[in-house]
Amino acid sequence: MQAPDWQQALKQAFSELDELLRYLKLTEQELKSPLKNPESFGLRVPREFADLIRKGDPSDPLLLQVLPSGLEAITHPFFKTDPVGDLEARTVPGLLHKYQGRVLIMATGACAVHCRYCFRRHYPYTGATASPQKWQGILDYLRTDPSIREVILSGGDPLMLEDDRLGEWIEQLAGISQLQRLRLHTRLPVVLPQRITGGLMDLLSRSPLQPVIVLHINHPRELSPALITATRTLQAAGITLLNQSVLLRGVNDSEQTLITLSEALFAGGILPYYLHMLDRVAGASHFEVSTEKAKKLHREMRQNLPGYLVPKLVREISGKGSKTPLDLT
Ligand SMILES: *Cc1c(COP(=O)(O)O)cnc(C)c1O
Ligand code: SF4
Repeated sequence: MQAPDWQQALKQAFSELDELLRYLKLTEQELKSPLKNPESFGLRVPREFADLIRKGDPSDPLLLQVLPSGLEAITHPFFKTDPVGDLEARTVPGLLHKYQGRVLIMATGACAVHCRYCFRRHYPYTGATASPQKWQGILDYLRTDPSIREVILSGGDPLMLEDDRLGEWIEQLAGISQLQRLRLHTRLPVVLPQRITGGLMDLLSRSPLQPVIVLHINHPRELSPALITATRTLQAAGITLLNQSVLLRGVNDSEQTLITLSEALFAGGILPYYLHMLDRVAGASHFEVSTEKAKKLHREMRQNLPGYLVPKLVREISGKGSKTPLDLT
């Protein structure tokens, strides 16, 4: 059988810096900081996302999210390889149970794009994700805890799994009586909108679990016409669409960008959910926005937008029972 379109498209993703720069009509000299090609967590940019990047602009906010920068080599005492205590929260292999009532399953370690600020960029995925062997252990754990109402498929990116595998897992989850909701945290529709296949729609609409998709969009220009077509399809199937963004220096740390983003999300049928402070992961210190500036931006959003278009500004603090609103830090 031929691989689905989205998998073929993924094979065409840029993984060589030279090639990406040529495509974007940029030279290394034009980039602000020296580049290196990292050995682990290398460059990965699907062509569909590269097409949204402005050609010849070394400061393009979409480019900055995916371009390996020499600044990643900066070491900073507060920027760690496991910034949010994920390693301690592993309850059974492949599962994180940090918060009451919901669990997160690391469905896979793979992603279609490598975001340079990713808090799991150093996560030891090998052997840590929900492989078919570990799946039984996960189901057993869910059955023993009646307080769990929601399962979050995350990773990595859960939509990197093929429809067959995903469908099988979702069906097994539906067999756990107390579960009500199934949430997917994904960036795939943003960087590869053709991932929203008919097959995926079938398996989500067939499930008795109420589906929620949390997209990850940081900048209004990521809302391409192809993505909007995909979100319309999801919305028509009754799927709740939310968005989380990460506040990133040079990418979306301006009042105008954030306001435009919220409005563009809503126009696409997506509600802003969280605006995350950057997790302090080693290699990402150059993306950090100060707490003071973040609060100011959030205040401006509140003043200029209806309440339902203002995402919650939060930070993840290891050991806490939920994400922490910035006002409480
Ligand atoms: C962020 C997160 C969740 C989801 O938190 P919500 O506030 O419900 O969106 C669940 N589990 C883990 C481990 C998380 O990091
Ligand atoms: S898609 Fe999400 S998990 Fe994957 S690299 Fe980007 S931020 Fe990290």
